[in-house]
Amino acid sequence: MIHPAGQPSLVFADSEGNITDFPDLHAAGMSAGDTVLPAKEDFIPLPEGSELFVLPGRFPVGYDQKNNEPLLVAEDPFGSGHAIQAVAAFMSPAHTAVLNCAYQTTENAPRLPLFAYTAVGWYDGMFWTTAFRSDEDIRQDADQFNQQTINHKTRKKLEKHPNNRLIQHLGKCCLTYGCPAARNYFLGRWEAPLPTSPTCNARCIGCISLQASGKCSATQDRIQFVPTAAEICGVAIPHLKTAEKAIVSFGQGCEGEPLLQTDTIERAIKSIRKKTDRGTINLNSNASKPDAVKRLVESGLDSLRVSINSAQERYHTSYYRPQGFSLTDVCKSIQVMKDANAFVSLNYFILPGVTDSEDEFNALREILSTFKPDRIQLRNLNMDPEWYLRSITYKPLVKSMGMRKWLSKIKNEFPQLQFGYYNPPIR
Ligand code: SF4
Repeated sequence: MIHPAGQPSLVFADSEGNITDFPDLHAAGMSAGDTVLPAKEDFIPLPEGSELFVLPGRFPVGYDQKNNEPLLVAEDPFGSGHAIQAVAAFMSPAHTAVLNCAYQTTENAPRLPLFAYTAVGWYDGMFWTTAFRSDEDIRQDADQFNQQTINHKTRKKLEKHPNNRLIQHLGKCCLTYGCPAARNYFLGRWEAPLPTSPTCNARCIGCISLQASGKCSATQDRIQFVPTAAEICGVAIPHLKTAEKAIVSFGQGCEGEPLLQTDTIERAIKSIRKKTDRGTINLNSNASKPDAVKRLVESGLDSLRVSINSAQERYHTSYYRPQGFSLTDVCKSIQVMKDANAFVSLNYFILPGVTDSEDEFNALREILSTFKPDRIQLRNLNMDPEWYLRSITYKPLVKSMGMRKWLSKIKNEFPQLQFGYYNPPIR
């Protein structure tokens, strides 16, 4: 992995969004509210396909190495008198944050939208961000997508299947939201999405498909209908029969909880496996219903991806605001899959300072050693970090160990455990 030869410097934006570097201060990072000086080994070149976000109502915080302390920059250090704002990186998929962007929020600053805000700096003519590549799979890499080809193949399939509501829905996901999974479906390769559920039995604070408070907008609309088993098969069977490293996944960002549609999904899986045993049938879920998971694995489900923000019951409950289930049920679902010798991934929401705290590590160790999931997907928490910490009333007992130390510690303790970002093909 490439790291900078020197310490990247602070970057900030003016009110127009023009980004400038300030060499007098080093770029700093944030770890659950603590401002730290990143090590050079924490930085990688900003990955292709990443975006730079200007953070409204937030002043940049840099690091003054001379005095070995963080320094707030509340006005343009070059003396223009113009207002300035902090800058964060929203990294392209398959990259996991080591530190969040360091800033100080002003009074009445708007809530940040549902993205991840990673620290970024400037060095030797380029942007560097504090992260690591967590999956070598290229399925969502920016250079894998040609928009013209996507438009052509998507329109052709939409014309060919006017009566399949699910294909029509995925057409919108592909052409309007640019959903990488929907794009790969229309390109006939890798992992294809099978959204099924307009409803959910949780009310996650950072839900990307439904934000009832209105204080923050959802990043995509929720599907408004439950596709039939035949519509699901119309997407899944041709894809599983022909696609390279074929996977079809229930449980997408544009829906609620798929386990609430177990009858339909069970019928679909049985029909799919009557037609082909090629490829992987996966379910992304909050894993709230172990009995439903049992029915699905018995009908042919290959893998389950279990989303959790924390392995600590109190933080899981305060984030998921579950309706009639708890982290105990989630763990039972993992047990059901393992008893059936099926594959389980934890879709673990990473927030530097929380994930790598001692108490979180100990709680995660308990789940890993007791229920033995096969893989951890290291997904960045896509949420305003301050809003998240307030919402779960986060109270760390001790300082966090640092994400890179956390990763090597967990790899040493669980050498069998896989690490990645995506659902792997099982068949
Ligand atoms: S489980 Fe998924 S769909 Fe349900 S509230 Fe949480 S993020 Fe939203």
